[in-house]
Amino acid sequence: GAERIKNVLILMSDTGGGHRASAEAIREAFKLEYGDEYNIIVKDVWKEYTGWPLNDMERQYKFMVKHVQLWKVAFHSTSPRWIHSCYLAAIAAYYAKEVEAGLMEYKPDIIISVHPLMQHIPLWVLKWQGLQKKVIFATVITDLNSCHPTWFHPGVNRCYCPSKEVAKRAALDGLEDSQIRVFGLPIRPSFALAVLSKDELREELELDPDLPAVLLMGGGEGMGPVKKTALALGESLFDKELGKPLGQLIIICGRNKALKSTLESHKWTIPVKVRGFETQMEKWMGACDCIITKAGPGTIAEALIRGLPIILNDYIPGQEKGNVPYVVDNGAGVFTRSPKETARIVKEWFSTKADERERMSENALKLAQPEAVFDIVKDIHELAQARGPLVNIPYMLTSSFGSLI
Ligand code: UDP
Repeated sequence: GAERIKNVLILMSDTGGGHRASAEAIREAFKLEYGDEYNIIVKDVWKEYTGWPLNDMERQYKFMVKHVQLWKVAFHSTSPRWIHSCYLAAIAAYYAKEVEAGLMEYKPDIIISVHPLMQHIPLWVLKWQGLQKKVIFATVITDLNSCHPTWFHPGVNRCYCPSKEVAKRAALDGLEDSQIRVFGLPIRPSFALAVLSKDELREELELDPDLPAVLLMGGGEGMGPVKKTALALGESLFDKELGKPLGQLIIICGRNKALKSTLESHKWTIPVKVRGFETQMEKWMGACDCIITKAGPGTIAEALIRGLPIILNDYIPGQEKGNVPYVVDNGAGVFTRSPKETARIVKEWFSTKADERERMSENALKLAQPEAVFDIVKDIHELAQARGPLVNIPYMLTSSFGSLI
């Protein structure tokens, strides 16, 4: 029958590249699988509709991750449920109308949250509107291991966990098995679809065809000890006795323009490529033999798909900390904060310890879940089908909700 197009509202916030990347991945997968059946809207609703502090989250986050101790305190002090519930309840009472107006504008049939702070308020609004049974609400968790408890809300239809560890936490926090699915972290479909061979990619990206290549990056913002590591690699990957390089280095600085220009002006003794924000990460990763990065979940999941051994050189305290044992304990990489140590490991991987690199690459591929994003959208589609033909969802403008709490 001629069913109307369903609206899918994806709630995200630009705190780091990861949440936006996951949101875009889900949007692309819906398009590839279901074409025009779904109308996908990706929104930083808080930024557009609410006042401080929610619309300011991005700036606050950038400030806090720059001042790591502050972020640590903020992350852990908001962990006990009673604290964040009260905090969010206060904010919700204040901003309920704006959030409601946001939901009313898009009239979503399905709401997908890819952010730890975007379950409570939209779910409250749905409850007040009597729409819990009509609108599907799904949370897609984007932390691989240690995650903030605000991710878990018993009122969701589905909670998609990237790993068994996260699923365990969800169960401990009161979610039912029927609500939990473990498919993996949603990564842009371009990573799951076939890519060119390493040789072809190297030609396309104008890299040396023969030298082993290490990719160095630090998330969307180019964070972590990128510069020091690059300089150390410049030393370690140059064989002084033979007077020639052992490997080549590709540095992706993301949005960090200062980093890019500093590195560009350096005189290198090995082949080095310095790039800004790249949109085809699957190609750069496909052309390399190992990766050095902070413990961002997106970058890790992508590297696993490409079978790249990972050197983790930093993490954002709180949500990224658990990503370290996820990689190291599964034998897909190592952790060190020391640029010298990092440079030594890469040199060994490119010379005497090629077998270790090979083993870690195999372990990485075992952990990889390239299909996760498709599994997630198919499961949401099945939920939507189970609801039967969708009626128009009666979003109403009610003026008294704010005073209910
Ligand atoms: N990324 C990208 N181009 C760049 C740098 C990063 O597309 O130049 C992507 C990267 O592939 C990953 C995301 O940005 O998907 C970074 O997410 P992650 O969780 O690793 O770290 P965050 O930036 O969120 O702290």
